[in-house]
Amino acid sequence: MLVFCKDKILCKGTTCNLTEDYVLSRGNMNILRISRDLPAVWQADHPWVDVDGVERLALDERLLTLREFLNACDDSTRRIVTRAWQFRNWFRDVKFCSHCGGKLSPSTTDFGRKCDECGAMFYAPLSPAVITAVEHKGRLLLAHNTAWHNDRYSVIAGFVEPGETLEEAVRREIREEVAIEVNDVKYFGSQPWPFPNSLMFGFTAKYASGELKPDGTEISSAGFCSPEDIRRMNLPDNASIARKLIENFLRNH
Ligand SMILES: [Zn+2]
Repeated sequence: MLVFCKDKILCKGTTCNLTEDYVLSRGNMNILRISRDLPAVWQADHPWVDVDGVERLALDERLLTLREFLNACDDSTRRIVTRAWQFRNWFRDVKFCSHCGGKLSPSTTDFGRKCDECGAMFYAPLSPAVITAVEHKGRLLLAHNTAWHNDRYSVIAGFVEPGETLEEAVRREIREEVAIEVNDVKYFGSQPWPFPNSLMFGFTAKYASGELKPDGTEISSAGFCSPEDIRRMNLPDNASIARKLIENFLRNH
């Protein structure tokens, strides 16, 4: 059972997957919601509790941020925690129908919630985003985002807009952020990214035309970097698809 405490996850030793007996017998946690209270369809997934605080931590317990935790765990644990975390946040943050203000009740047939008053159905929000490794003459396009407070560089990413295909979003984001055109856009893989609810679609692409020019608002600097340069740079977290795209480039060059 996962224990979520505000923006942290309770870990005991090296695991966050605590037994239900242990969690419920702790006694010094005020439990706000427990997923076992939900209809049967929701029980197939990993159970979690939402608590408003942990008074005393045991010697081998720690409260980790989601980012700290995801960087330290394996892929199967990452999947479980990402899913439970997003469902928990949705229950915590959205309690009423956005049409009529009625109360939402969890569906008994799927992972939706239905308004008790008007019957409208709602599902946990997901925001699709694209992230692309652009190659040119054996070099990889890396950019620094103005929102980052360190000297990190990464590949270009952005949210998909209504009415767009993923490939169109790839081309538009790159055009908007660094003013170049790309071609040979190929799907690489995807990754749930719960900060707060993205679904990242990774692509590779090749430079086609244009002169590299950061937009100055979202991107402050950008360049095509050699494998030697990249190995010396401050790169995204290991758990991210951004890092996987960069490592994929390095493996092939
Ligand atoms: Zn309603």
